[in-house]
Amino acid sequence: MIVRDRLVQSFLELVAIDSPSGDEDVIAAELEHRLQALGLDCAQDAHGNVLASRPGSGEPILLSAHMDTAEPGRGIKPIWDGDDIIRTDGTTILGADNKAGCAVILEVIQSAIEDGARTRPIEVAISRGEEIGLVGAQNMDYSRITAKVAVVIDSGGPPASVQGQAPYHYTYTVEVNGRAAHAGVEPEKGIPAITIAAEAVLGLPQGRMDFETTGNVGTIHGGLVRNAVPEACVIEGEMRSMEFEKVESLVARAKDHLTEVQQRHPEAKVNSRFHLGYPGYKLEPGDPAADLLFGVLRDLGMEPDPHPVGGGTDGNVFRGHGIASVVIGRGGYNQHTKDEYLVIPEMLDCARVVEAIVRTQG
Ligand SMILES: [Zn+2]
Repeated sequence: MIVRDRLVQSFLELVAIDSPSGDEDVIAAELEHRLQALGLDCAQDAHGNVLASRPGSGEPILLSAHMDTAEPGRGIKPIWDGDDIIRTDGTTILGADNKAGCAVILEVIQSAIEDGARTRPIEVAISRGEEIGLVGAQNMDYSRITAKVAVVIDSGGPPASVQGQAPYHYTYTVEVNGRAAHAGVEPEKGIPAITIAAEAVLGLPQGRMDFETTGNVGTIHGGLVRNAVPEACVIEGEMRSMEFEKVESLVARAKDHLTEVQQRHPEAKVNSRFHLGYPGYKLEPGDPAADLLFGVLRDLGMEPDPHPVGGGTDGNVFRGHGIASVVIGRGGYNQHTKDEYLVIPEMLDCARVVEAIVRTQG
């Protein structure tokens, strides 16, 4: 049985361990220790993701969360009066995104052990670096994962709040190389990389293209000193769309534009790299993960509420690796802000849903 106090206690213990992205060693060791104490075969992969498994019967199921948190996420002091809400003291995020997901996974396994319940084989993947671009999931050791269906516990709101659609995501880098020269003595010998990069930026997709397609130039770095014609400039950007064709056509447009810029400045070098960071998806009937989750939600009297989201999660990356994934709510709100809070009954409902899923006969 899912035990409310134990679930809350383990959540509070996990948020007391600082784990901003890039600084996950301590929380990884703690999670590994806890999963081993629950009898799971558990180890970190080469990237430091915590992977674990527990035997069972039927088709295996992957339970996933991420261990890193956003900033400001050091010295978190959760405020809990014993009622239904856990808040921050206003100086940091709370870290329900995604310590609530980690706590739910631990509670579901603990509960299965205590009940002597028959479960599917359970695989656990707790990633690093989710908040900085799904880095852990992209570098995960998939040879250790056999499940073809995953529940990613990493959405806001109640468990019935399901990410129904997530975008395809392209990242890109443009490098402009010109030629340096003294800006006062012989500027005519220079090829100003920043100016050429500016032309590039102006034609790259930015803002909202339509209701499901966006583009952004996020960073620009160029030049070394005030008095030299800048030799190099680097632009980083991204594009997203729910529809693969739309993001592909944005990429094609951006490449055409960069080719034009190159042609206008044959003396410079304009190089670009485009990378499909993760695939998008849309939950449809017949999708094994959606069917499983929606069935369990309805059995528990919760009506599934799938909605599109503009961001990717580890679920996108898993789908790229052939693992049908659903991303469910675990009771958090105002994620990535100092106003983040956790609704305990919703985290509890999330644990009940995940528990029911691992106990289905697959
Ligand atoms: Zn998250």
